[in-house]
Amino acid sequence: MPQTLASGIAYADLKFEERANIIAACFLQDASGVAIVDPGPSSCLPALEDALRQRGGSIDDVHTVLLTHIHLDHAGAAGSLVRRNARIHVFVHEVGAPHMIDPSRFLNSARRLYGDAMGALFGEFVPVPAANVTSLSGGETIPLASRRLEVAYTPGHASHHVTYFDPESRIAFVGDTAGIRQGQSGFVLPPLAPPDINLELWEASIARILEWEPKTIFLTHFGPYDDVRPHFAELQENFAVTSRIVKDTLAATATDGERAATFAQKVMQLMRSRMPAADADAYALAGPLEHNWIGLARYWRKKEGAARSA
Ligand SMILES: [Zn+2]
Repeated sequence: MPQTLASGIAYADLKFEERANIIAACFLQDASGVAIVDPGPSSCLPALEDALRQRGGSIDDVHTVLLTHIHLDHAGAAGSLVRRNARIHVFVHEVGAPHMIDPSRFLNSARRLYGDAMGALFGEFVPVPAANVTSLSGGETIPLASRRLEVAYTPGHASHHVTYFDPESRIAFVGDTAGIRQGQSGFVLPPLAPPDINLELWEASIARILEWEPKTIFLTHFGPYDDVRPHFAELQENFAVTSRIVKDTLAATATDGERAATFAQKVMQLMRSRMPAADADAYALAGPLEHNWIGLARYWRKKEGAARSA
């Protein structure tokens, strides 16, 4: 059953991989229908439809899809939804928009990361017709009946990441910019999959989100949190912790595969020291820990390469 966040705003668990609390989608109801923030992957469409049905509606009532970014676990179902209801309008950052219209290059690079598991994990990725797409650059206001959502460009996790803010409820829909948080531990894991990880840009995006002074941040992985500043402080602390582990692996003699495995093992150890094992496993389900090594190592290698050649 969808959970209410504020008047006209709710979220549902998309039961990714039959697990609770891995991927959430948000619903913003108004007189003309429903806007969905991050509809999730196509593999979760049955759960998304169930949630709409429990709210007394269906895909026919959806008029808008607001994507925080185009990663499969957030945006994968957008094209499938538009195929079912051509009235749906998809908002997405201008860097991501071309890939929603022609996903071939983006899907090839995702396949390098996920291999043969990609289809089973995320399902189909249907292109969105260009006529259904509106590109955002940040700074816009999106009118949805009586509601006006503000948009900020928030790169760092992805170069095509935006955050939506509802000034009335003071909820910020932060996608992956506020990391992954599960259970009661308060541990906030940065999702660090390649190829766009940039910690400086990410820090600036956090500052931008805090300018709104949100009452609540809503994380795709997973749910609403009101302790906004301590939450981001914990995320920033874990930028440092994960960076230290990555730098240690880069200094050691090993293959990248071995380095990624060492990183995954150390982060898992750290999480298991802070929470029950089932919670720690849930963090890894929202994004394989080895991918975090690939993304963060790419960032540090580029940065230190640039420093050396300067
Ligand atoms: Zn994600």
